[in-house]
Amino acid sequence: MGLLSNRIERSELKKGDHIYCYRKAHTFSHHGIYVGNDRVIHFRKSKKKHNPIRTVLGRNKSCGECGYNRIGDKGIVKTCVDCFLKHHRLFRFEYKVGVTEAMVKRSGTCSAASPDLAEVVIQRANDELKNNKEFGGYDFVENNCECFAFYCTTGIPRSTQANAFKDAIQNVRKTFPTGEHHSPKPIFESLLKGYLDDKIRRFNEESLINKKNDDDDGSDKDE
Ligand SMILES: [Zn+2]
Repeated sequence: MGLLSNRIERSELKKGDHIYCYRKAHTFSHHGIYVGNDRVIHFRKSKKKHNPIRTVLGRNKSCGECGYNRIGDKGIVKTCVDCFLKHHRLFRFEYKVGVTEAMVKRSGTCSAASPDLAEVVIQRANDELKNNKEFGGYDFVENNCECFAFYCTTGIPRSTQANAFKDAIQNVRKTFPTGEHHSPKPIFESLLKGYLDDKIRRFNEESLINKKNDDDDGSDKDE
């Protein structure tokens, strides 16, 4: 795993790993929990409608390996790694990273939070698979595939992307004294401004690069 990339090979997968891949030309990532034996439990948006053209083309078939059907199966699903990746590259979400690293890296790739033991992570994923097929309903920002994987790994129900900003503030606050002669407010403001500016700059750069070098199958209209 490189300093600035969480890319891994399949041979490096470990049970309980929170993994992800980029979909739709890197515009968003899809997350899941690797539970061993070539299986991933993940939460997918329940939006697919029957498309007669896909049926004619034979694209509505269930996976021969895991039985997953992209039209019929929704909410929390268990699929083979191939069905999870859909030919995209594999990445591993990093936990317990330093605050600086968490701020430098793209959000949705790492967290300062501590992961639970692999058995606990897998147990949570299996429990959700059995008991709550919809995980409270998919919401693109508040309750998505990343929230699900993060919850399974830490027991904390939230989205890192949505909370990265809050984490940064809390960690910076701990770093500085808060006496009246050491008001941290100006430091916060400049740090937060820098953080946001950097996020916006990176997003714009990535969008431009991805437009030019779209190495994903942009024709794939699924999540
Ligand atoms: Zn499959």
